[in-house]
Amino acid sequence: MIKKAKEIVQDVLVKEAVVADREGTWVSESMAALKESGLTALTAPVDCGGHGHGMYGLARVCEELGKGYSSAGLCYGMHCVGTAVIAAKATSWQKTTYLEPIAKGLHLTTLALSEPGTGAHFYIPQTSLLPLSEQDFLINGTKTFVTNGSHADSYVLSTAAASDEASADQFSCVVVDEGTEGMQWGKEWDGLGMRGNSSRMLHLNNTRISANQILGANGDQLWYVFNVVAPYFLTAMAGTYLGIADRALAEATTTLSKRVYTHNGTTLAHVSLLQHRLGTLWAKVERTRQLIYHAALLGDKGDEAAILSLFAAKAEVASCAVDTVNEAMTLSGGIGYENNGLLGMLMRDARAAHVMAPTTDILYTWIGRALLDQPILSD
Ligand SMILES: Cc1cc2nc3c(=O)[nH]c(=O)nc-3n(C[C@H](O)[C@H](O)[C@H](O)COP(=O)(O)OP(=O)(O)OC[C@H]3O[C@@H](n4cnc5c(N)ncnc54)[C@H](O)[C@@H]3O)c2cc1C
Repeated sequence: MIKKAKEIVQDVLVKEAVVADREGTWVSESMAALKESGLTALTAPVDCGGHGHGMYGLARVCEELGKGYSSAGLCYGMHCVGTAVIAAKATSWQKTTYLEPIAKGLHLTTLALSEPGTGAHFYIPQTSLLPLSEQDFLINGTKTFVTNGSHADSYVLSTAAASDEASADQFSCVVVDEGTEGMQWGKEWDGLGMRGNSSRMLHLNNTRISANQILGANGDQLWYVFNVVAPYFLTAMAGTYLGIADRALAEATTTLSKRVYTHNGTTLAHVSLLQHRLGTLWAKVERTRQLIYHAALLGDKGDEAAILSLFAAKAEVASCAVDTVNEAMTLSGGIGYENNGLLGMLMRDARAAHVMAPTTDILYTWIGRALLDQPILSD
């Protein structure tokens, strides 16, 4: 898997990054290559023909993709998270309709949870799911920042639970097929970074789905948030942003080795202060990597301590990626400061880590609440 990811990074992602970052276009060639290689089957279950990988495999592949082009890592990660959510309690109809085509590289899905009204509180959807009959439901509401927006074959989205008895924070996850009547896409969001992910708003006006498209049962919402959505999402994002940090570190290392002064023939690699700064940077990236791998492995084992480590992994990688790119820019001098050069792009992309929900502040707050024995989702 890692070998295939590295090949696609070299052959496709790094090239597509230049155009996608400049034009703000979706990473179609990267996603096509990932589908063709079988990598989009990563988290699809083995009994559906997929590879059945968990969080560790996801973190590793996203890390490789993040080194090549983080927007592609983000698009790929959202597909894998959506797949894991569908797979968690899949019915035989859902296996045939979604997971088997995903395993064959024929279907792209993605996650659409965030809403303009509740923002970073992605676990409180206000989109409604109204039963018309036992078999048919209507969805009304608006999703925002949908990665792979309008390019996926299906969207895993959250709605307020259909049941009248359900409390306000209960929700159902559903899968909606692209092109269903009542779906209307907003224009591509013109982001500072992550410009190849096609973030869009999705308006749902009486969008009709069948009972087959509802995942799990009413009342499953907390189980989904803490057992599938958050763990897989945090892992995919942690891997992708780690890839950004690693690429920046590699760029700084190359620059220090290659920058030769004409007055004395030495390179920056011989300046002890810069050696020290580079070493410090490596240690920062490495300790973040080990936290991410450790958290993902705990998650795969179903260890109940996993969730706090996963919260910490995504919170820590956000600072690691931003700080590493920032430091790499300093080490690279004026050349590193080039407008829209590699480090400029990495800086813009890394910055998204802090604001993608669960955001850095919210993750640290959740850890604190857990340590204090308070309910994590208390707002
Ligand atoms: C590049 C990108 C891709 C994305 N892709 C997807 C996607 O595919 N699917 C999807 O569902 N969503 C996606 N999102 C949305 C994302 O996950 C967030 O939900 C969204 O960015 C929140 O934005 P907001 O402007 O509404 O934040 P707000 O809710 O307005 O928050 C603003 C700030 O206030 C802080 N804040 C709010 N409440 C608290 C609190 N209680 N404690 C501490 N701090 C708090 C937040 O941490 C944040 O820093 C994406 C976002 C980006 C930037």
